[in-house]
Amino acid sequence: MLSGWRDVTARRPWRISAKLLIISSVVTVIGFSAICVNVMLDMRRGEEALARQTLENLATTIESDISRNIEIYDLSLKAVANNLLLPELATVSKPVRHLILFDHAMTAKHFGAIQVFNAEGKLTIDASTLDPAPENRSEEDYFSVHRDNPGAGLFISRPMLFRGAYSIVLSRRVSDTDGGFMGVVAGSIRFSYFHELFDRLNLGPEDSITVLRRDRTIMMRRPFDLDVIGKNLGTRQDWKADNLRAGGAYAGQGPVDTTPRLYVRSSGTSPLFVVAGKPLSAVFELWRKEAYRIGAVVVALILFVLGSTLVLAREIGRRAEAERKLEEMATTDALTGLKNRRKFDSVIDVEWRRAMRQKAPVALLMIDADHFKAYNDTFGHQAGDQVLVGIAICISDSVSRAGDCAARYGGEEFAVLLPSTSAPDAFKVAETIRAKVQGWSDDEVISTVSCGVASLVPSAGMDWAVLVAAADKALYAAKAGGRNQSVVASLPKLSLVA
Ligand code: GH3
Ligand code: MG
Ligand code: MG
Repeated sequence: MLSGWRDVTARRPWRISAKLLIISSVVTVIGFSAICVNVMLDMRRGEEALARQTLENLATTIESDISRNIEIYDLSLKAVANNLLLPELATVSKPVRHLILFDHAMTAKHFGAIQVFNAEGKLTIDASTLDPAPENRSEEDYFSVHRDNPGAGLFISRPMLFRGAYSIVLSRRVSDTDGGFMGVVAGSIRFSYFHELFDRLNLGPEDSITVLRRDRTIMMRRPFDLDVIGKNLGTRQDWKADNLRAGGAYAGQGPVDTTPRLYVRSSGTSPLFVVAGKPLSAVFELWRKEAYRIGAVVVALILFVLGSTLVLAREIGRRAEAERKLEEMATTDALTGLKNRRKFDSVIDVEWRRAMRQKAPVALLMIDADHFKAYNDTFGHQAGDQVLVGIAICISDSVSRAGDCAARYGGEEFAVLLPSTSAPDAFKVAETIRAKVQGWSDDEVISTVSCGVASLVPSAGMDWAVLVAAADKALYAAKAGGRNQSVVASLPKLSLVA
């Protein structure tokens, strides 16, 4: 209804403050969360590095133990291969020959008895018996590899059933003084050695230890599974020679089961190497607990901050709304709903200076009810008030541009400020208002208004009181001219708007 005026100076700082509060809280929460996530990831990396170091130490320790035993056994094999060349050997009895060839190594718990095969693969000497049963091993790779390759050195076979026990066979070539092939000396390390070695370690149920030959053949694994022993991992992406180097590691699925583990390879250089694996769930168990704990606290804090922010923002909004209402009340005329005189004075001040800067015209209408005293005297003050409300509606309905300001100037007098409006245009607005008031009042008692119109381009040093005085003068002229009419002020040439 009273929507004609627009307050150009109206601002709503409360919205900005509530928004600012929410934005700053959200930014704080995001920043805080980012720091927390970063710290948690750092902790996770720390846990991984620690687990990796522990696993590398474990793998290297196991590798050292295995390589030490292989070395000890290899020394015996070498001794047998060398001693077989002694010419005296052919002349001594079998028991003495045994004493010469075999030292105490063959008696060690997990080592199989050393056997000697001749160039045809026939078993000739067996450390465990003076009269071995005839057997031929020329088909076995631990025999053929030495027959075909004089430089094979110590050969470690794939795991196999050897003399009734799962073992890995260690073999060396027996060469004569010219390097000719004389046969093979072979021994074995039983799986029981590995079982006992692994049992000595304090391992978790899901922890895995894999002993591999350099060609990636699985020699032994814990948890033990006969099906995977002897499997070659040379084609497995993560286990290939290029990828899993000494001291290297990877996290993911292993070659046997689906449990994702952190796998770390030993850093030694022995013929067999060890890969120790720990399930990722175990590696990050402590970290996960800590992450849940800290995460819960952080989420609670975030919820608290966001909750408080929303409550505060709502409170700010409420207060701002109350302030806005107060401000509106302080600037609105209670009877007519138009701007009051105080507000009008501040608006005209602002618009006057703006017009001065932009060298644009600013127009003012002064509107006064005709014979209003008589109306009051006849119909009473309350009826008079209703007429004033009616006039205000007519005014606000006719003034709708942004920046226009309609106000109750005093008793039954109204003022309308029209920025960037020339005198003819302002006159049109005045006439519209005047016609509306006339048309609106009932037939018996016709209420009318007189309008004084003034428009000028403010020049430097000029006060807006000039404009008010000019409009006032025009209003006086309208009254003098018979009322119910609009009169445009005649202004000095300088200020006139064409
Ligand atoms: P003119 O046409 O020359 O303007 O005649 P007038 O009677 O309107 O002029 P005058 O200034 O003598 O009278 C103004 C009257 O307006 C006096 C007062 O009774 C009335 N008036 C001023 N304020 C109010 C108001 O808020 N409510 C009512 N009902 N009347 C008011
Ligand atoms: Mg009057
Ligand atoms: Mg008056």
